[in-house]
Parts: sequence; C-alpha cells; structure tokens
Amino acid sequence: SETELMRYVKKLGRRDISLVDSMISLGSCTMKLTPAVAMMPLSLSEFADIHPFVPADQAEGYRELIDALSKDLATITGMAAVSLQPNSGASGEYTGLMVIRAYYQSRGQGYRNVALIPASAHGTNPASAAMAGMRTVTVACDERGNIDVDDLKAKAAQYASELCCIMVTYPSTHGVFESRIREIVDIVHDNGGQVYMDGANMNAQVGLTNPGYIGADVCHLNLHKTFAIPHGGGGPGVGPICVAAHLAEFLPGHSLAETGGRSGITAVAAAPFGSALILPITYGYIKMLGESGLRRATEMAIVNANYLAVALKDEFGIVYTGETGRVGHEMILDLRDFRKLYGVECADIARRLMDYGFHAPTLSFPVHETLMIEPTESESLAELDRFVESLVAIKRECEQIRDGEADAEDNPVKMAPHTAQEACADTWTHPYGRERAVFPLPWIRANKFFPYVTKIDGGYGDRNLCCTCGTLYGGE
Ligand SMILES: *Cc1c(COP(=O)(O)O)cnc(C)c1O
Repeated sequence: SETELMRYVKKLGRRDISLVDSMISLGSCTMKLTPAVAMMPLSLSEFADIHPFVPADQAEGYRELIDALSKDLATITGMAAVSLQPNSGASGEYTGLMVIRAYYQSRGQGYRNVALIPASAHGTNPASAAMAGMRTVTVACDERGNIDVDDLKAKAAQYASELCCIMVTYPSTHGVFESRIREIVDIVHDNGGQVYMDGANMNAQVGLTNPGYIGADVCHLNLHKTFAIPHGGGGPGVGPICVAAHLAEFLPGHSLAETGGRSGITAVAAAPFGSALILPITYGYIKMLGESGLRRATEMAIVNANYLAVALKDEFGIVYTGETGRVGHEMILDLRDFRKLYGVECADIARRLMDYGFHAPTLSFPVHETLMIEPTESESLAELDRFVESLVAIKRECEQIRDGEADAEDNPVKMAPHTAQEACADTWTHPYGRERAVFPLPWIRANKFFPYVTKIDGGYGDRNLCCTCGTLYGGE
C-alpha cells in the first residue's frame, strides 16, 4: 500500500547520512547543495511527461531550454559547441575521445591512438581511453603532485607519430592548480595531439578561467557535480562535452532526433539529449546565480577548502600544495604515518567520523592512506568549524592510544562506528564509556545521527557471498 511504501522509503532514508544531516566532504565529488527551487520544475508535467522521442514540434520548450543551456555551458567553458547526450562524466570522457578519434579519421590519421594519462588521473580516464580503443601511456608526477613536464615532453616526443591526446584534469586530482598547464597543452599540440580536459573539477574554474582559455580541445562537465544536480547512489547524471570549433562537426548524433554535428559519431546514449529531465536544475542554477554569482560560488569553494587546509595542516599535514602554499577547491589530508604512530588505519578515522555525524571524506584516493576533502561553497563557517573540531577530536583519540590512555585495539576509533543497538544494549564490554562512544562532543546530542551498520569485515564480505534474504525487512 502507499502507506507501507512511504514508510519503507522513509526507513531507508533514515539510514542514509546525507546533506540534510551535515556536510558531505567527499573530495572529487563536489557534493554541493541542490537548491529546492531548482528541483521544482522536475515535478511539472511539461518537463516530466514528455517522451524523448516525441516529434520535435511537441517539445519546443524543451528544445529552447536545451539550446540556452548549451550556449551557457559553451560560454562557461570557452568552447564552441556542446553535446548534452552523455549520461555521466565517464560517458562524457568516452564521447570526447570518440570525437577526437573521428576528427583524426577524417584527416586520414585514424592510426593515432596513444592517450597520455598522468599518474594523478581519475580511474575513469584510462578506463575510457581503453573503451575508445586507445593505448594508454602513463605520465609521471613530481614530488609536489604536478605533472612531470620533462617526462611529458619525453613521452609526447617518443609517441609523436601515434599521439592522439592527453587527458588532463585541472585543477588536478591532487587538489592544486597545475601552474604549468598551458605549457602542458602546448607540448601535446606541438606533438600532434589533442587536449582532453577532465572537467570534474570545474567548481574551481567557473567564472575564473576555463578549458577553452587554457587551450583544451574538448572537456566534459559533470552537471551532477559542479552544476548542482544531486548525485550519489547511481542516479541519473549529465556529463556533457564541450568542444572547440574544429571538433563540433563530430558531436554525437541520434537516429530519431536532430542533434550533433554534420559528421557526428553515433549516439552514446538511448535518448538524444541524455537525462534531459534534470537539465532544468542546471539551467536554474546558472540563471539564478548569473555571471557574478557563479564566480562567487567558485571563489567561496576555493576559500572554504583553504580554510580547512589551514585549520587542519598542523594536525594532519596536506599532501600537496601549490607554489603559493595554497590548495584549489579540495585537499588531501595526510594520514600515511597514522598506522605507525597510532596503530590506526585511515578507514578507522573515516568510520569514526560517522559517530560525530559526518559522512566520510574520499578514502585513499588518489593517494593511498589519505582523506580527500572538498567542502564546496555550500557550507557555512559554523559547519566547517564543526568538521574541524571533529577531526581534531579524533586525532586526540588517536594520541590517547599512542600514550597508553586507551586500549590499542578496543578503543573508540577502531571500534567505530557505534550503532544505537550497540549503545543501548544491556551489555557493554568496551573499556571506554557509552557516552564517549556516541556523544564524543557536546553538540552531537542536539542532532545525533546513528549509523545503522557497525564496523564490518570488508575483506571477509568480499570473499564470502552472504544471503540477507528474509532478514532484509525484518530488522536484524
Ligand atoms: C567524478 C569524476 C569523474 C567521473 O564522473 P562520473 O560522472 O562519476 O562518471 C571523472 N574524473 C574526475 C576527476 C572525477 O572526479
């Protein structure tokens, strides 16, 4: 019944720590607010009830929105043309690479198939290159996290006759603005390749700089990151690609609708404009913020990240900073010596944060034994301070382990997270108190989030298929 379904959905929702609870600091994911006002159009029948294949004259309003949004995205990225078809960032990468491939084929250079990929790249980059039939060659990074320009020069020259492209992220997934980015672009162009810019980090660029200005030939955007579409849990995404003029004619077409370039590659999604229903979110976000608002959002995202970096650097260390000592819109906290110093794993800290009411940051990506943190512009100073206070408190708990004030194994950090079921049980065997376990800081009482599942043996779970059938709805 509707009653039961409603309660079932709410029950699942209660088990999920989300933006309605606290900041989600997942680095590289840009978990910014989706404003309620931008979601409203999704309930309008005029957007919700139109089939992607209706005759064009029945979807003129949609087309107007698609064209206006494409124009705005072209302006923001400094590019000539846009395809909204790809349904995710990774799908955008694949599409962009196929467009580059078609461009080379049209010039009789279809043999160009080497993709240079920096060691710092997101895993989707080499995966997409492989999907597009390319050979990947890794470019080293230096000790400051930047692309090793000498290595790039050598590899670009070595593979010049087969060079297809570089896939470069800016600011890089190491969280800093690569100061030699234009030199990197020139090296690839001089050796006959195209520059694919992974635009997942556009939250640090919008209104300040753009891929076109930097010299990229194609980039993708993650509208579900930078442009406020909600994400997580595998929901629909939008990963448009924006291209320079010479690539526009190869943008993907569709057999049932007029879209793409004159010599467009085949469709990369079932629907001609991808996840069109959620485009009004991005459209509204851009139109409501306007030029100065978008720039302000970028500035605040960078300022917030740098605030956290300064507040946390003495407790944890920041793995990479730029030449000015600053980070971009995200940073990597260094926990690589925590195992040695405190006997604590990076994942223990991530789990303990749940007891403090926070979703874990990105764990061990792109550097092992680190936490990657991206606050976004959506968070207030008070929320940033709560987050810092929590991480510092967890650091103190680690120090108590080191100093022998807490048991080496049975301590609040290694036993985290603590569920309501455990905290309220008649028996409690830990050497530390219940209060310490679930209310480690005073303000947590006012808005406690209880994780639903305690620490599990992930390795065991990966190797042993366990059936939860029957117990799933029963509550065990
Ligand atoms: C998120 C991300 C991607 C992939 O985007 P999806 O929409 O998750 O497919 C690619 N590169 C970087 C740097 C990212 O952060």
